[in-house]
Amino acid sequence: MKVKRVKKRGYLFQFDDLLKDFGCITNVYVVVGKKHVFICDTYLGKEPMEKIINYLNEIIKGKEVIVFNSHSDWDHIWGNCYFTEKILSHELCLDNIIKKGNYELKKYSPLASGKVSIKLPNITFKERLTFQDEEVCFFYSPGHTKDSASLYDISDNVLFVGDNIEYPIPLIYYNNLKKYKKTLEKYALLKPDIFVLSHGNPDKGKLMESNLEYVKDLINDKIEKYEEGIYKDIHKNNLDVLKNKSGS
Ligand SMILES: [Zn+2]
Repeated sequence: MKVKRVKKRGYLFQFDDLLKDFGCITNVYVVVGKKHVFICDTYLGKEPMEKIINYLNEIIKGKEVIVFNSHSDWDHIWGNCYFTEKILSHELCLDNIIKKGNYELKKYSPLASGKVSIKLPNITFKERLTFQDEEVCFFYSPGHTKDSASLYDISDNVLFVGDNIEYPIPLIYYNNLKKYKKTLEKYALLKPDIFVLSHGNPDKGKLMESNLEYVKDLINDKIEKYEEGIYKDIHKNNLDVLKNKSGS
């Protein structure tokens, strides 16, 4: 586990267990507020969550823990079972975990960190959920998946985007590109100093711009440049999903 500080109150915990099979590092992002601690995504199980809580021990003493799932994919939710506290997500994320949580747990079980059971979010929102005193806002941001949401830390001007921004282009599992474009344009309007991604290092905006360009290029069918090199495999996956009208 690698720890990076982000601005005044962000802690980025980076793990590399999925590097071998999936070629990516995976992050858990924590915002330490005045009275609350916001834990964004819970990775592969109880063990990494315990390490994070132990690391933050003194810093979070007496503060209420709020867990957030950016979307329903297995690599973001398996550590939910470590917590007895509030777990927030978009309402579609809850629906999807109910639908596919146990199936994915079975499918990828060798990757679990310790014993995992599917624990559902217990507070959901539709458009946004704001913690005014903490200057923290969770909001719906469909893109990578239909059930994706983001956290905006207004005080630090940092945006946690889950899997909506990725290097070199995002993996798409939702076939509404116009909604994805809208989400990335909304991100751009917020002008965060730092974008925190679930897979990869924090970005100052360049990656967001190139991801937006990719989504626009897909919409306009300008896709030649993505048919080779570093883009090829992800782009091919995306075209397959976009062909399938039922992508969720
Ligand atoms: Zn992911």
